[in-house]
Amino acid sequence: MGLLVVGSVAFDSVKTPFGEAEDVLGGSATYFSTSASYFTDVSLVAVVGEDFPKKHIDFLKLRNIDTRGLVTAPGKTFRWKGQYGFDLNEAQTLDTQLNVFETFKPDLPEEYRGADIVFLANIDPDLQREVLTQVKDPKLVALDTMNFWIEGKRDSLIKTLSQVDILFINDSEARQLTGMPNLVKAAREINSYGPRTIVIKRGEYGVLLFHGGSVFAAPAYPLEDVFDPTGAGDTFGGGFMGFIANSMDFSESTLRQATVMGSVMASYNVEDFSLNRIRDLDYKEIEARFREFKKLAHFDDLD
Ligand code: AMP
Repeated sequence: MGLLVVGSVAFDSVKTPFGEAEDVLGGSATYFSTSASYFTDVSLVAVVGEDFPKKHIDFLKLRNIDTRGLVTAPGKTFRWKGQYGFDLNEAQTLDTQLNVFETFKPDLPEEYRGADIVFLANIDPDLQREVLTQVKDPKLVALDTMNFWIEGKRDSLIKTLSQVDILFINDSEARQLTGMPNLVKAAREINSYGPRTIVIKRGEYGVLLFHGGSVFAAPAYPLEDVFDPTGAGDTFGGGFMGFIANSMDFSESTLRQATVMGSVMASYNVEDFSLNRIRDLDYKEIEARFREFKKLAHFDDLD
């Protein structure tokens, strides 16, 4: 059964050189599940506060996302505040308020426990592990994280990583996690923590996929207008994992296609604030951009 995700559902306040947005819908699990919903059935595990509007939950349901695992608890919804300079590759976190996530103890609905594929989106690694213990026999487990947890809960994160097949991480966080400036060496080091597949996200420079001794590089789509990179990583993860969950094929060829599909979804997401651009994409647009990626990276062999 389908793709299960645990992560944050949030109110984000974001400032970029091109504009700002306050208390808009965000969160790692929100971006992930919306993106993945174009490819497969998604079940969401998260918590929101009593201040979370029904219209946001209605939106998730409209995307056919199973929200039975989205709990409303007394208190306030998770809040993140960040800004970007002209180099949009790196978010500067100004404020993180865990709020209802501080005391959240996930208890998965029975129907979720048979999930085949689990995505542990960026959230407290203790929580990621707790969810994992409740899934009976997952065929594939992937994880995303960020500097906040690498700094604050490193030991717990390393423990969680030992149970993970695929790690999604950005370049600076791969360096921070391993203490290794070289990404090839960092990927090898992460390999020794547990994950056999490592996906290193490099913002506008694209993605590196390390798998079974080989490396695949996908470019980022060269966009003229990048408006807000918030959620690009999670949207990438949603496209990648949604594509894999749909095919249930874990071969290297599918992993490569999934890497490009993740890049396609992320390229749409950065065109607007919050989830505005990926709320209602046409699948034909997705396919068209996938094919443009193929052209973008194609070259002829030597004679
Ligand atoms: P990214 O894909 O890395 O740009 O993720 C951005 C999203 O991550 C935002 O919508 C935030 O709400 C969420 N976020 C930021 N910090 C954290 C954190 N410490 N834990 C979980 N989610 C976070």
